[in-house]
Amino acid sequence: MNQPAIVRLENVTKVYGNKTIGLDHVSTNIHKGEFVFLVGASGAGKSTFLKLLFREEKPTSGKIYVGNKNISLLKTKELNMLRKNIGVVFQDFRLLEDRTAYENIAYAMEVLGYMKKDIMDRVPKILKKVGMQHRQEHYPQQLSGGEQQRIAIGRAIINSPKILLADEPSGNVDPSTAVEIMDIFKEINSVGTTIIMATHDRFIVDQLAKRVIELKKGQVVRDQEGGRYTYES
Ligand code: ADP
Repeated sequence: MNQPAIVRLENVTKVYGNKTIGLDHVSTNIHKGEFVFLVGASGAGKSTFLKLLFREEKPTSGKIYVGNKNISLLKTKELNMLRKNIGVVFQDFRLLEDRTAYENIAYAMEVLGYMKKDIMDRVPKILKKVGMQHRQEHYPQQLSGGEQQRIAIGRAIINSPKILLADEPSGNVDPSTAVEIMDIFKEINSVGTTIIMATHDRFIVDQLAKRVIELKKGQVVRDQEGGRYTYES
């Protein structure tokens, strides 16, 4: 591809404390609109890879570029800009328990500085996109895992982010719900959003046949287009 990468890692190493390796000399390019699965055993470095991209962690060495900016050098204001352009979805949903589905999304828009009018206009559209209009008045505890994850995905895309990061988004839902959640991701990807998703879900990786980056002890041991969960030559 000729386009510049939207995400570029140059020889990135992350060491926690003095000795635990998170990532070990990782270099890779991810382009706009790609859908990338990060696979590998627990502790292989998948979450670290994602956390480095939205600056929840900083690399010990190496450079990380998101949209041409070296994100190690960002000042607070620029960091807020970065995070506006990146949506994040976690395995454990991380919704506010004392707010309804609607309010969870509306609140995230408030935090981003949207006007009330825009919030009232946009939240129903987001709820529709993730198939949750009929549950908008429910609190997280009244929703299934799959429904909570839909709301969390809605919250992650309020700002139409260029990049969506997901850390085992189907880890807490049943297999058929996982497929539905992946349909939402595919839809989001189809309009040009780059998706980077860490997963242990063999079925989903094999079915979608996207790019697979496999990590082992912090190193990239495989980077394959149309890859399967387990390497087959
Ligand atoms: P994965 O997401 O593939 O399970 P992680 O990126 O969470 O892997 O972890 C990679 C390695 O870094 C593991 O050995 C893990 O124990 C370690 N690690 C992750 N986060 C921290 C942390 N905050 N402090 C110390 N070690 C950590």
